[in-house]
Amino acid sequence: MLRLMHVHAHPDDESSKGAASTAKYVAEGVDVHVVTCTGGERGSILNPAMDRPDVLENISAIRRDEMEAARAILGVRQDWLGFVDSGWPEGDPKPPLPEGCFALVPVEEAAEPLVRLIRSFRPHVMTTYDENGGYPHPDHVMCHTVSLAAFEAAGDPDRYPDAGEPWQPLKLYYHHSFHRERTVALHEAMLAAGLESPYAERLEEWKPDPVHAARITTKVPCAEYFPVRDRALLAHATQIDPDGAWFACPMDIHQKAWPTEDYELARSLVDSELPEDDLFAGVRGLAERMEA
Ligand SMILES: [Zn+2]
Repeated sequence: MLRLMHVHAHPDDESSKGAASTAKYVAEGVDVHVVTCTGGERGSILNPAMDRPDVLENISAIRRDEMEAARAILGVRQDWLGFVDSGWPEGDPKPPLPEGCFALVPVEEAAEPLVRLIRSFRPHVMTTYDENGGYPHPDHVMCHTVSLAAFEAAGDPDRYPDAGEPWQPLKLYYHHSFHRERTVALHEAMLAAGLESPYAERLEEWKPDPVHAARITTKVPCAEYFPVRDRALLAHATQIDPDGAWFACPMDIHQKAWPTEDYELARSLVDSELPEDDLFAGVRGLAERMEA
């Protein structure tokens, strides 16, 4: 049994990043565990139909219910780390982060519950965000820092001795879901189909970044699971506008133009040949021996 752990900052991140590859691995029989660092308490309501006082009042409970619905759609297990959303700092200069929020917790302390979950679930492969958080939300950057710290500590018996039997995951990946090359492909495919592209404005100012493009090591084909990803996303009704940019590119065009979800192999204790098309490259077979 192969095990995969995704560490995400907020409820909905598991459905917007890597959800189709998650669904593919679940269909293959992989045990997938989503860890959500915060409750998303400070997230804005991004769906006009849900922007109501009664929703805002109960946002924590509603986001928990949304996460449970998305979890069931994706077929994964899910745990909360229990930290409080840091919010997106708005203004120039940016205001200080709210007291007690996730991004202000010392890393040593914030990594402890994740080390505990790694040691009990024993994933072979972990995913998180890159050092920029994928986008610079303080919780996403913190999610990166804490995941890396936990990946490095979980196998060490001298670290967190009261957090369970040591377990060393074999690979750590960063999500690279929304890179320029993919956006260009979707943009061109929409124009070729005679449709208006929602990406034109963004691409005008988005210069090619070969250094960032070269970081992608692993493209997982998962186009047939894009509909599952979309259903999981829609389960986060407060966060996703069904008429918004998320769903602007028609499914069949998207599936043909960019049929993969893309990752960067950031740490590996096994040999695998790059580029890869499988998060478990070099792990299959070895994982069975680890169980023995
Ligand atoms: Zn997020």
